Amino acid sequence: MSKKVSYKKLARLHNVLMEYEKRVIEETTDPLGIGDRLGFHCYSCGNMISTVKLTHGETATKIECNRKGCKSIMLRNDNVYKYQNVDLEDTHEWWRPDLNWLKKNRDKLSLLDHIFKGGLILRKIRKK
Ligand SMILES: [Zn+2]
Repeated sequence: MSKKVSYKKLARLHNVLMEYEKRVIEETTDPLGIGDRLGFHCYSCGNMISTVKLTHGETATKIECNRKGCKSIMLRNDNVYKYQNVDLEDTHEWWRPDLNWLKKNRDKLSLLDHIFKGGLILRKIRKK
């Protein structure tokens, strides 16, 4: 038995998601977190990062620390912006995956479930 979601089903679910997103953005004047910055702090190594929301949707309260060698967890903590003398640069963004991403990750069932419930996932911001 295959543990992958079919392309056809992914495409259908993705359409539903895009329709939902369009409707929510059109029907409200509230930007729903678009552009919001979320800070994360690792209490093990002290690493701090800043993330930004590209669209509305659920984000995580904890993520894996991205510092090399640290296998700890970073917790959501907006005080990171106060701890810094210089403004923290946004390095990661919360986005709603496109169909290509979904196709590449169609065996990650719990992640897909999260996405189709409106959840966002974190990716590194590409430098321009
Ligand atoms: Zn760490």
